[in-house]
This record gives sequence, C-alpha cells and structure tokens, in this order.
Amino acid sequence: MTTVALKDVTKVFPDGTVAVDNVSLDVNDGEFMVLLGPSGCGKSTVLRMVAGLEDPSSGAIMLDGALVNDVPPRDRRIAMVFQDFALYPHMTVGDNIAFPLRLSGVEPGPRGARVADVAGALGIGDVLARKPSQLSGGQRQRVAMGRAIVRRPGLFLMDEPLSNLDSGLRAELRAEISGLVRELGVSTIYVTHDQAEALTMADRVAIMRKGVLQDVGTPTQVYGRP
Ligand code: ADP
Ligand code: ADP
Repeated sequence: MTTVALKDVTKVFPDGTVAVDNVSLDVNDGEFMVLLGPSGCGKSTVLRMVAGLEDPSSGAIMLDGALVNDVPPRDRRIAMVFQDFALYPHMTVGDNIAFPLRLSGVEPGPRGARVADVAGALGIGDVLARKPSQLSGGQRQRVAMGRAIVRRPGLFLMDEPLSNLDSGLRAELRAEISGLVRELGVSTIYVTHDQAEALTMADRVAIMRKGVLQDVGTPTQVYGRP
C-alpha cells in the first residue's frame, strides 16, 4: 500500500497550455480515488505525473513521503492500465500476465502459482493458453489488469480503462475492478469522465475542471447521495 500526496502541483506544457493548475490532493493507504471530469481537464496529466512519466512544472508529488522522482522507477511499485492497453499478441494470456514477473526474475514455480491466482480472481483462469486475439474485449481488459497487478503494486493507476467497452460489460467490470482492488488493499487512482462510474466505484471522488481541482469528497459529500 502507498500514500500519494500532491502539493500545489502545476503543469504548463511548452506551448503554454496550463493542463494542471495548482492541484493539491491526498490519497490514503488502500483508498480508491476517482479523478472525474470532462475530456481535456487534466486528469491524464495528473496520472502521468504521479507515475513519474511527466515532471510537474512546479509543486511536489510524494509517494509514501518520498518525491516521485527520487524513487528509482523499479522501486516505485506502480501499476498502470490505460484505455488502449497493449497485450503482447504473440504470447498466450498466461505469458502476458507472467511477463512482469519474468522481467523481475521470479522463478517459474512461484510465477505460475501467482499467475493462476490472479487469473482466477479475474475470472480468466480457463483461457490462459489462448492468444489475445482469441478473447473477447472484456477478457482482454481483464488480462491487462492481471498483468498490471501481478507484481502486487502499492499503487494502481487506471486511465479510462473501460471506455472502449460496451455499457453492459462496463457495468460488470466496474464492480469487478473495485472488488478486486479492495481485496488487494491497493491504493488506486482511477481516471474517468463517467459520473456513474465514479459514484459506484469511489471511496472518494476528486472533480477536475479546466486543470483545477473543484471538489474532493465521498460520493455522498460531493453529490449528496452514495
Ligand atoms: P463531457 O461532455 O466531456 O462528458 P461533462 O461536462 O459532461 O464532460 O463532464 C463529465 C462528467 O464530470 C459528468 O458526469 C459531470 O457530471 C462531471 N462533472 C464535471 N464537473 C463537475 C462539477 N463541477 N460538479 C459535478 N460534476 C461534474
Ligand atoms: P484529460 O485526461 O482530462 O482528458 P489531459 O490531461 O489529457 O486531459 O489534457 C489536459 C490539457 O493539456 C488538454 O488541454 C490537452 O490538450 C493538454 N495537453 C496534454 N498533453 C499535452 C502536451 N504534451 N502538450 C501540450 N498540451 C497538452
């Protein structure tokens, strides 16, 4: 588990676009934080800065009290899932999920056990031998999640992971993702423009508009209903 603290974070791109404007936000250990707002309001930029993929122009981002950029990438224990997740097409589902473990030198035995665990939790235990092209869209998204969480990250960052799926599947995966994340106890920042998604998944919602953080609170605090 990991705490995240953004302190007065601003991001101005070289062309002068102020994508993020003086945002301060704390994410507690094990908390599911949804970052909600319309397209272009700066959500992805916040996420990319938390991941260390983009530097703030000013302000500070801390993970467990240490500046993001002072922590070597290998030690950040951050997992990310995006809308346009890319699975390795030539590898089986099992090998896709196992890949991060192989990179970090986990032995085949424990690797297989861990993959089976994660795949079981995501309901894809029976398709481990297939290639991504032989899966449904929802199954592919589950594989992408499995690959992201297999190393037991302390922080899970998701950027509109469901936006390419149809509405029935979206509702199903919404419940599944929040259930899984809570089971793992992993701190999460989940980016979406979908208010229903925010209301059903969030411990707290942070509402962004034009780079500015407008409101932060539980769904009840922010919307007056759970
Ligand atoms: P888009 O047209 O890109 O979908 P919207 O303006 O409809 O963007 O906003 C996306 C979501 O964020 C909506 O569900 C909206 O209710 C929510 N939202 C954005 N800003 C606010 C705000 N200030 N207060 C409450 N909800 C907001
Ligand atoms: P969201 O995730 O809410 O859709 P983004 O964080 O992607 O918003 O973008 C926020 C603003 O920053 C937008 O106006 C976008 O056009 C702009 N932006 C994003 N990336 C860059 C970049 N590399 N250079 C210039 N402007 C950018």
